[in-house]
Amino acid sequence: MTMLSPDAAGLAALEARLRQDLSWLEWPAKSWVPRRLVDGQEVTDVVIVGGGMAGLVASAMLTRFGVDNHVVLDRAKAGQEGPWVTYARMLTLRSPKELTGPAMGLPALTFRAFYEAQYGREAWRTLDRAPRTLWMDYLTWYRKMLNLPVRNEVAVARIQPRGDDLLALDISEAGAARQILARHVVLATGRDGLGGPYVPEIAQRIDRRFWAHTADMIDFAQLKTKRVAMVGAGASAMDNAAVALEAGAARLDLFIRRADIPRINKFTGIGSQGVVHGFAGLPDEWKWRFLDHTLNAQTPPPRPSVLRVSAFPQAQFHLASPITDLTEIDDHVVVTTPKGRYEIDFIIFGTGFKVDLALRPELAEFAPHIRFWRDRFPSPKGMENAELETSPDLGEAFEFLEKVPGACPALSRLHCFNYPATLSHGKLSGDIPAISEGADRLARGIVRRLFVDDRERHFENLKAFATPEILGDEWRDADAPSAPQPAPLDAST
Ligand SMILES: Cc1cc2nc3c(=O)[nH]c(=O)nc-3n(C[C@H](O)[C@H](O)[C@H](O)COP(=O)(O)OP(=O)(O)OC[C@H]3O[C@@H](n4cnc5c(N)ncnc54)[C@H](O)[C@@H]3O)c2cc1C
Repeated sequence: MTMLSPDAAGLAALEARLRQDLSWLEWPAKSWVPRRLVDGQEVTDVVIVGGGMAGLVASAMLTRFGVDNHVVLDRAKAGQEGPWVTYARMLTLRSPKELTGPAMGLPALTFRAFYEAQYGREAWRTLDRAPRTLWMDYLTWYRKMLNLPVRNEVAVARIQPRGDDLLALDISEAGAARQILARHVVLATGRDGLGGPYVPEIAQRIDRRFWAHTADMIDFAQLKTKRVAMVGAGASAMDNAAVALEAGAARLDLFIRRADIPRINKFTGIGSQGVVHGFAGLPDEWKWRFLDHTLNAQTPPPRPSVLRVSAFPQAQFHLASPITDLTEIDDHVVVTTPKGRYEIDFIIFGTGFKVDLALRPELAEFAPHIRFWRDRFPSPKGMENAELETSPDLGEAFEFLEKVPGACPALSRLHCFNYPATLSHGKLSGDIPAISEGADRLARGIVRRLFVDDRERHFENLKAFATPEILGDEWRDADAPSAPQPAPLDAST
């Protein structure tokens, strides 16, 4: 990939245009939610936990709808939110470069506009996919241009319901702990937002120093000249395998459970505005059917990622090779599969993420009350699926629902805007393609709730509002005694 130097003047011109567009759209919208003080503390209308892509777009939508008293909190340093410059190891995004994703329908806010402004139209034409780190730059620029209220290096340690209609958040910022109050909380906490990395039980048979998950920070330099095993055939497995090979691994064995690598990207393949807006309207059994079929087919790794691995002669693909045993012997590990035994020095699990609320201390108070699909919807015969069964069952604004009605009403103020929402809402809360539509649905739901909850205040405002548009001097009452009488009509004319 040739490195082009960015054109600062081009970017400045785009920024001027975008500012103009935003001002033509009356952005940000007029603030309208009445401020609240409780126990002498100002209440924040919406706290968004997570300043990755989903959190930024949610914040932008709230701004668009005039909910300005909101904040986005992220424990990561500014510019390091999400996976892009931390544990993501692909060279480019998987997504086509043209996706308008977070841009909310604003042409000047698209990745394409950001790219073309700096590198020109010809460079755009020849660009294959968005380079990974440039995507992070784009999100940082997006945040700056929309002036989003993100606070970095703030971790949300615990969210608790209160007796009133507020949620209390224990946060830690620069080593100091304090509590803030919110009317709504949005979890934009990413792919692992309701759990963490999934690692098969068998990993427990060996010491932690021998293994990592693809979402870990891995010191690949340490793998130089080492024999490395990779478990899985998804995108992350391939990208991590490639990085290990590029770092000089002596040998890399990919252990793939299936007899073939998945080849067809099913759900993305049928993507359309129909799927985006229609999925949530499907009857439950149809939602299940669509996603069960998709998950069983699995998502193929991107072709460039596989080629990046297979370019190395020391890469060995083992199909139909589930790991049946892992044994630690002295300073190495032996991997056993139905096809053989392999001596390795380090093993990386590219086995994805799971929902497990026990791994999210910030949700401990709510965990017993959160309703999952398995609590309400028996898995259809032949379509048993652990991932779907552990999906949260969500309302129209991505809010959690109660397992037992009335047991935890505060759940209706806690919104799950991350990947596990897919079974309830379709793919609107994790991936790039429909993130604006997801944030739009989320923000409209919150706006509706805020307005309805404040109906008495808004009605008082209605009654109190007394600014006349008509002053009374624009017309005269023709029948008033003092009114001048018109001249009688002359019958001959
Ligand atoms: C390796 C990888 C590659 C991907 N490539 C693509 C792609 O090409 N195309 C595509 O459409 N999708 C892709 N995705 C999927 C998806 O777009 C990304 O996962 C994206 O980052 C999702 O954005 P998010 O905002 O939901 O989560 P994230 O970007 O993960 O952001 C979540 C944020 O929440 C913060 N956070 C979590 N808990 C707390 C807490 N308690 N307190 C404070 N902050 C907290 C984290 O620090 C993090 O910054 C990829 C995902 C991965 C993992």
